[in-house]
Amino acid sequence: MTSRIIPFFNYPVLYERQKKDLLPLIDEILSGGRYIMQKELENFESDLARYLDVKYALGVADGTMALILALKASNIGLGDEVLVPSHTFVASAAAIAHVGATPVLVECDWTHLMDPGDLERRITSKTKAIMPVQLNGRVAEMNKIIDIAKRNGLIIIEDAAQALGAKFKGEFAGTFGVAGTFSFYPSKTLGGFGDGGAVVTNDSRVADSVRLLRDHGRHPSGEVMQWGFNSRLDNLQAGILGYKLKHYSKEIERRREIAALYHGSLDGLEALKLPPPPSDGDHFDIFQNYEIEADYRDELRAYLDVQGVKTIIQWGGKVIHQYPSLGLNKDLPMTELMSRRYMLLPMNTSLSNEDISYICEQILTFYRR
Ligand SMILES: *Cc1c(COP(=O)(O)O)cnc(C)c1O
Repeated sequence: MTSRIIPFFNYPVLYERQKKDLLPLIDEILSGGRYIMQKELENFESDLARYLDVKYALGVADGTMALILALKASNIGLGDEVLVPSHTFVASAAAIAHVGATPVLVECDWTHLMDPGDLERRITSKTKAIMPVQLNGRVAEMNKIIDIAKRNGLIIIEDAAQALGAKFKGEFAGTFGVAGTFSFYPSKTLGGFGDGGAVVTNDSRVADSVRLLRDHGRHPSGEVMQWGFNSRLDNLQAGILGYKLKHYSKEIERRREIAALYHGSLDGLEALKLPPPPSDGDHFDIFQNYEIEADYRDELRAYLDVQGVKTIIQWGGKVIHQYPSLGLNKDLPMTELMSRRYMLLPMNTSLSNEDISYICEQILTFYRR
């Protein structure tokens, strides 16, 4: 008999909390007929740019298109190699492939982020860019990665889909390179009611290029300047995201509280490796996910499932060098080892402190047996 069910994610509960504010907002946008590239999009873009302290933020259709447009605007293309971690969503590497370049996979370190120690030995004469992925709401060791990029004449394009608001040495994820990208997929920390994404940059040429690329290559004058895409952020989503951005600091605060609770209860367990606890040191983490490594992982997940605690393994349990049809480099022993041990505990603001205590109790019971 289970005493409670804790779903991994609970969209309806989260919607219910904001419904009173959101319904009038949605009604106002729809009643005004403001569907494509209207004031809600402009407002959201300027609010996002101000939040991240960057010059330009451009809303696009989703986080994957944000990467494709950022790469294209940075002139990455045919014959170029781009370094990207194997422990990421396949979209990071897909974006590289879609601009005609080749993804070259890099190991992750013990915090599951791009390992700067492994990065440099993967550089060849074809390498043009590094794509650090700021996974799980934490920023990689960017001082080291920037140093390697500078010494080798490479540009940096950050996949910050999971890290809006995370910082390293006081600087925001997404602002370290020539461009950074975000996703507003519903389960992301700033999640819309559908797909959405953004490119941020301080480079006016990259911003101008993304602005053209996302809207069929069209200049506001109507002139078509180049081949483009249809990859705009819907005005309705922009309005919703703008509202959520205003309440975003509470979202992060609560996620950091939950991470501290997990850490407080589970830190002593030999069988687990936890992410670093929330701190205000070099790393300010926003805990998009709470990704642990566990001995007897699959048995632990099965036990938790029976106890009503729903966990997942990101992207179905495979890192991207493990998809044979993609033909990527496979010499990644550290990532390979990690891939047999990693999993996500529930992490979102629908969880109560009692939920977290219950989850931790179940985990402790499993390892005591
Ligand atoms: C979510 C995500 C993306 C893609 O975002 P979409 O909006 O779903 O296209 C890319 N990279 C990472 C690391 C992600 O988590």
